[in-house]
Amino acid sequence: MSSRLPALFVSHGAPTIIIDDCPTRDFLTQLGTSIEKPRAILCVTAHWTTREPRVSMHPAPPTIYDFGGFPDELYALSYPAPGDPIVSKRVMTLLSGAGFTVEKDMARGLDHGTWAPLMLMYPEAAIPVIQLSVQPHLSPEHHLAMGKALQPLRDEGVLIIGSGSSTHNLRDFFGRKLAAEPLPYAREFTEWLKEVVVNGRTDELLDYLQQGPHAARNHPTPEHFLPLFVALGSGGTGTLLHDAYTYGAISMAAFSWL
Ligand code: ZN
Repeated sequence: MSSRLPALFVSHGAPTIIIDDCPTRDFLTQLGTSIEKPRAILCVTAHWTTREPRVSMHPAPPTIYDFGGFPDELYALSYPAPGDPIVSKRVMTLLSGAGFTVEKDMARGLDHGTWAPLMLMYPEAAIPVIQLSVQPHLSPEHHLAMGKALQPLRDEGVLIIGSGSSTHNLRDFFGRKLAAEPLPYAREFTEWLKEVVVNGRTDELLDYLQQGPHAARNHPTPEHFLPLFVALGSGGTGTLLHDAYTYGAISMAAFSWL
């Protein structure tokens, strides 16, 4: 039996994170080696949005290229990690046991919210991967409650990763260079986020749209922020793992809870 695994929130950035030389690529590359090897990975991905929570159950999920306008070489990449239907069923049991209406998805492949960080963390693609969708029309509390329901997985060798972005204003992302200076409004939100996560100020975090500086500008839509609440909800003390920016507008801050 393995010991309790941390839960993570990572900012996946643009899919070019795989090929671009930047501090976050180096961080993600070492992150996989710094954690006890999981039996499976549950990735809560910003790039899968559904009415009700859905859990992927494809035994050999294909790689999805859910982006446009990026270099051709990205479309040649694949992440052939297997699924694990037994772990998928366990995820569904935990969620339905906590009162969620949850659906399985036999067809869903791995989107770049999942494979971009995993390709760096676990390049051998040998650990089974299951995905869980987010519900942008529902509250942070809903996502926190999903995390709470999933907490037992961390004692069962399953690594919970929320994959989104600490800030995510795409209008300001386009046209900026990878190593651009962080925009002041993105930095201000990130500094607040670091403080509330590390100090466990969950009520403030749940009310991020009111309490986070420039929250609506940093997250014009919520889907890239919601995976953080699932990881947070699975419990423990928050730690800042990584603090960097790409394209000025995208905070790559990453956290763990243990
Ligand atoms: Zn994304």
